[in-house]
Amino acid sequence: MRKWAAILILSALPLQVPAQNPAACSEAQFCPLDPPEPVFGSSTILAGCWTSRELQGSAADKKIRRTAVNTKPPSRQMPKNFLPPLSPELQNSIRQVHPASGKKVAALTFDLCERANEITGYDYRVVNYLRQNKIKATFFASGKWMRDHPEQTMQLMADPLFELGNHAWTHDDLRIDQGIKMEDQILWTQAQYELLREQLQARPCVAKAGESELAKIPKLPLVFRFPYGVCSPEALAYLAQIGLPAIQWNIVTADPAQNRTAAAIAREVLKKISPGSIIIAHANGLGHGTSQSLPLFIPSLKKMGYEFVTVSELLTSGPALAAKDCYELKPGDNHGYDKIYGKQPK
Ligand SMILES: [Zn+2]
Repeated sequence: MRKWAAILILSALPLQVPAQNPAACSEAQFCPLDPPEPVFGSSTILAGCWTSRELQGSAADKKIRRTAVNTKPPSRQMPKNFLPPLSPELQNSIRQVHPASGKKVAALTFDLCERANEITGYDYRVVNYLRQNKIKATFFASGKWMRDHPEQTMQLMADPLFELGNHAWTHDDLRIDQGIKMEDQILWTQAQYELLREQLQARPCVAKAGESELAKIPKLPLVFRFPYGVCSPEALAYLAQIGLPAIQWNIVTADPAQNRTAAAIAREVLKKISPGSIIIAHANGLGHGTSQSLPLFIPSLKKMGYEFVTVSELLTSGPALAAKDCYELKPGDNHGYDKIYGKQPK
């Protein structure tokens, strides 16, 4: 009896998805976008809207601050744009890609995590190294991080080297959050990105660059990373419906560990690298040794013939190696996070 009641309640929950019927779509606010092109920004907009000094950042940007709990949603909670649903091969937790003919491509990813009770930083040294050496990378930002760092978010979304992905609103444990609570963590972040893209669009520097340059900046984040790398079948199914592939990793820099060194990170990456690898690190000030490790392994990987691509580009290079569960390195190895973070303020 109780089981039936639960099923009825679940089926009655409004799933927040776009209209699937094109006729309804002309009226509805939520319409799937055309499949996106893997273009991630405009050098004209980047150079026209910020000076090189402004792009460089400073040591103060890296600071992490504890704050009172802030669960205030973004000023838009439902994104105007939606992506088409995912094809079946992209519907699980993607750990790596098998590039066609073993092509040596790899994706560097940097998380910009931010919980409800903190304002995290921006590791300008990571971004500066990547810009100076023209290395492509993907940043996964919490929506609240985007709201608290509007200039840096707009700079990252405008930079053609970088893809900006979704890392949930306040970095909730999405193995614990269910239903609307889980969906909002994802949707609010999509909506916050849209708001900042519109804010950028309204600037004279963008008008000067023209429509065709603005069109190079994606209308939405195209990829998602689960906070703590933990997921549920429900959350994976929801992401599939709203067109966001869940991007896990196969190489862990372990840079949140206080005693982590640049040399140890470089050793780990060079030991584990294989074509189609996805490397996880942090750029919110939480990483230890992260920026210093980049010159220790990136030139070596280039010498080995590796090319760095954004995650969305990596996904087009060959079939994804995906798992039904989300884990760090072995199935179940990150469930301990549920106890630590499952009950934090939402
Ligand atoms: Zn994170």
